[in-house]
Amino acid sequence: MIVDAHAHVFPPAVRERREALIASEPAFAEIYRNARAAMATAGEVLASMDEAGVDRTVIVNFAWRDEALVDETNAYILDAASRSGGRLLPFVAMPPARGGHGGPQFEDAPQTGHTAGGRSGDPRAKIRALAAAGARGIGELRPESLGWDLADSDEGDLLAWAASAYDLALLFHVSEPVGHPYAGKQGLRIEALASFAATAAGVTIIAAHWGGGLPFYTLMPEVREALATTWFDTAAGHLLYDAAIYRRAIDLVGAGRILFGSDFPLVSQADALARARAAGLSGDELRAIGGENARQIFGL
Ligand SMILES: [Zn+2]
Repeated sequence: MIVDAHAHVFPPAVRERREALIASEPAFAEIYRNARAAMATAGEVLASMDEAGVDRTVIVNFAWRDEALVDETNAYILDAASRSGGRLLPFVAMPPARGGHGGPQFEDAPQTGHTAGGRSGDPRAKIRALAAAGARGIGELRPESLGWDLADSDEGDLLAWAASAYDLALLFHVSEPVGHPYAGKQGLRIEALASFAATAAGVTIIAAHWGGGLPFYTLMPEVREALATTWFDTAAGHLLYDAAIYRRAIDLVGAGRILFGSDFPLVSQADALARARAAGLSGDELRAIGGENARQIFGL
């Protein structure tokens, strides 16, 4: 089974509003102000999977600031996944932790009476509804692009709660502290992710783009312990690293902790797969990274 753990989709209606969203959504503008940054629909991901021979794909949402946009895109992703015969695994955007209407924040949500989208202003009720509608994770999260801290914040608390309560994986864009700048490099510092992971024990975390270099720091015992349930995806890896990253990362964290991811449509799934297959891995390593690890995480 080949599983792509990192692909981006947008509703067609959102793609059509691209210019307006560049003006109103800071994290979106970081990446999509470049006219060459492609946006794909769920149908386009499915066509790519057929072409590349990918069995399952995690389709991720984006770090939206506007709550209405969070709701609109989450509904699209969940609907596309529910109609995909299990081929698409939906990751949703996190509702704003402070909600839309002010008022008290972390009170327990009502057990009944909420609508499919949850009530505005009640992020926990929304997350409960998203999980009930089939969400498998939250992401791609870009805390620093949205101006909040993962540590000691309502947002970080909400994420840890959601992941534990509903067994949702958290997929973070993680930034390398060194190296060349690129659109969207800003996302999350590795030290912030390591701190969060240390406090959110047992939560399934996917640190995108080889975790911004965090695998190296698992040589430190306390970091290794903090990252015990963190996986590292390969998304867009060849734009950042030499192909030796596969072997080096396996030496550091083991093939069992690496997930194949493309970052489609930035990178085609066929190209990303070809690069993984050319990385000099053993059959067992390739099976683990290419799908077996994801199969276990998501119980496929
Ligand atoms: Zn990313």
